[in-house]
Amino acid sequence: MAALNLARLIAVAAETIAAHAEELTALDQAIGDGDHGLNMKRGFEAVRAEADAFAAKPLPDALKAIGTKLVMTVGGASGPLFGTLFMALGKEIAADPDRNNLAAAFGKAVDAVAARGKSQIGQKTMLDVLQPVHDALAGGKTAAEIADIADAAAEATVPMKALRGRASFLGERSIGHMDAGARSTALLVRSVGQAIGE
Ligand code: ADP
Ligand code: MG
Ligand code: MG
Repeated sequence: MAALNLARLIAVAAETIAAHAEELTALDQAIGDGDHGLNMKRGFEAVRAEADAFAAKPLPDALKAIGTKLVMTVGGASGPLFGTLFMALGKEIAADPDRNNLAAAFGKAVDAVAARGKSQIGQKTMLDVLQPVHDALAGGKTAAEIADIADAAAEATVPMKALRGRASFLGERSIGHMDAGARSTALLVRSVGQAIGE
């Protein structure tokens, strides 16, 4: 993999989330409480504000610190879950990861999110994007292919019935809308791909 420019990665991710905040809010308005865009924007702006400090750390420490910052600033159900993703990734990743290490570390991080959320694939959450992204990473797909897989996986939450999170309170009425956290996860995956390339 190309050398990782963490400051640029953070900038691209924060920019992408900001550009899509209204869309994320609209998705969360349909089957949640309408704060997901604001939650994510607040969290990623907080990370962006300290991007240089994060980028100065070794990658594992940087990811753990980003995870902690997200827990403190995103809020809602998604804050602790995205925070767990980054903290677990930081715990498992090498300072200079190759594809195998990245895929293995990401797999552990996805498991940590599932454990934290007591959730599994098929329940209309961010996990429905995280798991296929892990499989694509482990399967050697390119960054562009992985971004498309993430988009398709978010799209595939539309016909699902929510079994976790606020949307689950709606039961059958959650069917027919995309999960907001699945969409934000796909946006983050695409921005990481954009920032690191292959
Ligand atoms: P809140 O629902 O507290 O307002 P957000 O709107 O920021 O929090 O985030 C909602 C998103 O969090 C959902 O769209 C879903 O993807 C994710 N989510 C919620 N609960 C869980 C869970 N138990 N496991 C995995 N993901 C979850
Ligand atoms: Mg919400
Ligand atoms: Mg909320």
